Amino acid sequence: MVSKVLIANRGEIALRVIRACQEMGIATVAVHSTADEKAMHVRLADESVCLGPPAAKDSYLNIAAIVSACEITGADAVHPGYGFLSENAKFVDVLDAHHITFIGPTGDHIRLMGDKITAKDKVKELGIPVVPGSDGEVLTVEDAIKVGQDIGYPVLVKASSGGGGRGMKIARNDTEMKEAFSTARSEAKAAFGDDAVYIEKFLEKPRHIEIQVIADTHGNVAHLGERDCSLQRRHQKVFEEAPSTVLDDAAREDIGKIVSTAIKNLGYRGVGTVEFLYEDGKFYFIEMNTRLQVEHPVTEMITGLDLVREQIRIASGEKLNFTQADIEFQGHAVECRINAENAKTFTPSPGLISHYHAPGGLGVRMDSAAYGGYSIPPHYDSLIGKLIIYGRDRDECLMRMKRALNELVIDGIESTIPLFEELLEAEAFNTADYDIHWLENWLENSSES
Ligand code: ADP
Repeated sequence: MVSKVLIANRGEIALRVIRACQEMGIATVAVHSTADEKAMHVRLADESVCLGPPAAKDSYLNIAAIVSACEITGADAVHPGYGFLSENAKFVDVLDAHHITFIGPTGDHIRLMGDKITAKDKVKELGIPVVPGSDGEVLTVEDAIKVGQDIGYPVLVKASSGGGGRGMKIARNDTEMKEAFSTARSEAKAAFGDDAVYIEKFLEKPRHIEIQVIADTHGNVAHLGERDCSLQRRHQKVFEEAPSTVLDDAAREDIGKIVSTAIKNLGYRGVGTVEFLYEDGKFYFIEMNTRLQVEHPVTEMITGLDLVREQIRIASGEKLNFTQADIEFQGHAVECRINAENAKTFTPSPGLISHYHAPGGLGVRMDSAAYGGYSIPPHYDSLIGKLIIYGRDRDECLMRMKRALNELVIDGIESTIPLFEELLEAEAFNTADYDIHWLENWLENSSES
């Protein structure tokens, strides 16, 4: 087993990893920027190292500084969390060269899935259904128009290196395509340094359903069911749950089997998420995330597994100590992403949290690095914490979510707590009768009235 884990991240996910390490008797090293000297992950880890100035490129993305921090502290493994370097193949290569264990998949698998065009090709070959679209990269606007006409508008122009919903543009006809093609390309170039784009059929009413998989280095693979992440704003998830209300056991088993067979044939190791759009009973692959996801706790709640512990065990060469048949899904779990943002305009609201009180009680889990007196720096993402609720069924979850939101106090800054309070009043939310476009329309309508 690895003996000392350096967490190359901050915020709630750094805490999440430290907690798993502590339960496993593994020593921890926190790294931080000068803006995060007073952050909770620095306080909770056994040791800490300052990486550099606030800007992520000088600190949390600074590979050389992180490797030095491993050498200084004697850390023999790195957990990357999500975001930052978690899907950076070069980082994995550098760690390999220094004989430091990366708690995650191989650099090659990260590279393969990080390029959405090669990823789509590969998973198709492995038997996973994909969204109909262009045959790989589209190079000219003339070709783009041809693809649009062939597969039928509306279509989505997407960045091959895309992430966080950036570099994605919809086109409903040839004229819109001219504009969409060039803006998607220039956005992709600016955001990812890569202007390769491809085209997909734009699905009008899908849900976002993703399958969690886990694989060890001995050829054992299991799927841990799905998460429904259909409530999104600007292609970013706002609320997630497991299981999805639209899948029955047979459908879950079918897609789970397809995905775990593919993952096994790929020779993948670690945890991963295969993301799909789901419409009219059919799954369409959109991308694979080769890391732990923000919304992983809802899967933990209904399976009873600790995914970070599993990641560490797998990276240490251990075998999965369960098989697919051992996985039982029990109850229902939901997650609210509480961000430091105005709940109507979504303008970021960093600054001092004057008072903080986390909710508790049966079925309530608050994953957060916030505390009263903590100041949220303006340099990073705006997540304050994840309110995760477990219940015997969805109705019980929502009832519990309401009272937990009521207990949660975050004073001094604006947060998205009111958004979830309002959602609880919306009928479509209560009946889970929505698709990925619903939340934005609802937000627009509720801001007019
Ligand atoms: P990113 O890596 O930027 O998050 P994804 O490919 O995962 O990009 O897509 C993010 C979100 O964008 C999806 O959850 C969905 O809401 C929307 N989306 C992506 N592809 C399509 C499509 N073909 N049709 C409709 N919506 C889509």
